[in-house]
Amino acid sequence: MTQLIGALDIGGTKIAASVADATGFLARMTEATVKSGAPDALARQCIRLLDAAAEKAGVAPALLQRVGVSSCGPFRLHGDGIALVAPNICGGLSARGNLPNDWTELPLQGVLAARFAQVEIRNDCIAALQGERTFGAVIDARDCVYVTWSTGIGFGLCVDGRLLAGKQGNAGHAGHLLMDPAGQTLCGCGSRGDLESLISGMNITRGQALDTPALFAAAKAGDAQARKLVTTAASWLGRALYDLTVTLDTSVFVIGGSVWQHHGAWLAPIVRHELESRFPVLTHGVTIVPPGLDAFVADVGALCLVMPAEWIEPWRASRPWQNLHHLPN
Ligand SMILES: [Zn+2]
Repeated sequence: MTQLIGALDIGGTKIAASVADATGFLARMTEATVKSGAPDALARQCIRLLDAAAEKAGVAPALLQRVGVSSCGPFRLHGDGIALVAPNICGGLSARGNLPNDWTELPLQGVLAARFAQVEIRNDCIAALQGERTFGAVIDARDCVYVTWSTGIGFGLCVDGRLLAGKQGNAGHAGHLLMDPAGQTLCGCGSRGDLESLISGMNITRGQALDTPALFAAAKAGDAQARKLVTTAASWLGRALYDLTVTLDTSVFVIGGSVWQHHGAWLAPIVRHELESRFPVLTHGVTIVPPGLDAFVADVGALCLVMPAEWIEPWRASRPWQNLHHLPN
């Protein structure tokens, strides 16, 4: 019988559902993340998208029973599994008041488990690290950290070859490490002066009239104020990487996300200086590398959570995620 597995990539703006067999991806569907209705609307949307992807692949949806999920967080753990407590989807948690619902929590694992026999849910950066360790930049690395620097800041942590999950699956929320007592910008978590409030793509402009791309363009063109904002942000990231290195004894950081993707080559020396200029016995030789899976790290990472072990070697050879660009939506 054909073995079929599914992947969900749940973000604040879109959800992607993919199905794959041993040969590679068969279909992928995306939709804007539902933001209204009953609190189980998001989980129902996920099931509908996966079933639709199976149908599009020409497979009976009932054959799809194993699903890996990469999701924005944080999570709360209940008796029936993980629920999402995500301020970018739940209007009842958002300080911005711009969401058309009053949700404070979204059931996920319990609803999915009523449809699928196996459901594995991880924070998006933990799933990304799983993908990078299976097929990407740090294959089988034992002590590695995935970092995303985009509209938010997230981390996935691996120590002694084990991905860290934590008591509710929230390990790696180091974007909320408190850093600057003088920080004024409010983070989505409610703190001021944490890493995300200082450097995320949403916060780095500090309320100036520039958007983030314009800020970086001004910095590169030599504008002194823009340059200071950007280089200070890189320093904060470097200090966070140092803190993680001395805590976890990390050997390699994989840094992705839109900000790093566009500006990492320029900012890397600043980040490296903060990381390497202290406590050499712990920091010597720590490397920073780009991701190997690019835009589809979430899809691949989610699939890795439920992928049969015998698929891994053939997928390493054929790299089927490269064809995802060509799958019709
Ligand atoms: Zn925060």
